[in-house]
Amino acid sequence: MARILDGAAIAAAIKQEVAEEVRLLAAQGVRPGLAAVLVGSVAASEIYVRSKVQACADLGIYSDLITPPETVTTEEMLDLVAGLNARDEIDGILIQLPLPAHVNAKALLDAVAPAKDVDGFHPINSGRLMAGRPALAPCTPAGIIEILKRSGIPIAGRHAVVVGRSDIVGKPAAMLLLHQNATVTICHSKTRDLGEVTRQADILVAAIGRPGFITPDMVKPGATIIDVGMNRIADRAEFDRFFAGNAKREAAFAKRGSVVVGDVHPQAFELAEAYTPVPGGVGLLTIAMLMANTVRAAKMRRGL
Ligand code: NDP
Repeated sequence: MARILDGAAIAAAIKQEVAEEVRLLAAQGVRPGLAAVLVGSVAASEIYVRSKVQACADLGIYSDLITPPETVTTEEMLDLVAGLNARDEIDGILIQLPLPAHVNAKALLDAVAPAKDVDGFHPINSGRLMAGRPALAPCTPAGIIEILKRSGIPIAGRHAVVVGRSDIVGKPAAMLLLHQNATVTICHSKTRDLGEVTRQADILVAAIGRPGFITPDMVKPGATIIDVGMNRIADRAEFDRFFAGNAKREAAFAKRGSVVVGDVHPQAFELAEAYTPVPGGVGLLTIAMLMANTVRAAKMRRGL
């Protein structure tokens, strides 16, 4: 039977370590601080940001939630970021994506001081990551490495196949796996005969954004599967395609009218040696790693 890699337990362990670091820093008169910028009122973004602010409170990290209106301009946002860059009690700046279409997201992410770029999206941090220098790495990919390491899954020498090449997940995940001495293949929408490649994976990372896209025939028996995808499905026929006969999921669907499914078809997990469930896997690590990055930024900025 495939082993479930428990994101909740791993995230809790990381948060406990972060809380301990916060206590040690307090003894030196330092309190790490995170500014979270949430533009407009996208329901999912509001939930994410509130969870991040709550995590700060739980761990003793100072947080400042800033909520500009949907109509905010790029210039106003740039001024806001400049102000946060200058504030000494702020160690990390998080700009929740997606931003309204009229705001230049790239210009904003580039305006965040690299030392406070706790999301790891600034080109300086991507470059440092690529060069193997100390960098603030993007939270979700960093969480993937933590899951593998803390679950005792060997990485060095193994073939890791990453499906997806976004700047936020796929590319940095591939780079971090490479730094752990995996042999890495990156796939995307133009990859020919995708299944032929994914079947070679000892570690298969799916970061695609398509529900149940990785089917059992695309998986090598005994592989470790990391499912990054988070896709909400509300269509009954689609639900049945994944979860027909699954009492727990049926109850969740009946209650909320939708469920979340990853990029990997649930039947594909049965072939794995170990896998991250959705929900309850990688998603929980993202906030834990954001907290870890905030404390790291606080220490790095003070040369600690
Ligand atoms: P993007 O849409 O930015 O990237 C998706 C990638 O998948 C692209 O590189 C794309 O290829 C590739 N892709 C799309 N269709 C195919 C296909 N048919 N065959 C092969 N590759 C394909 O998504 P993200 O990287 O931002 O997110 C991926 C998933 O992870 C989403 O479900 C998202 O919700 C989830 N996510 C979860 C997080 C968490 O905390 N757990 C955090 C961030 C994301 P191409 O480049 O060629 O278009």
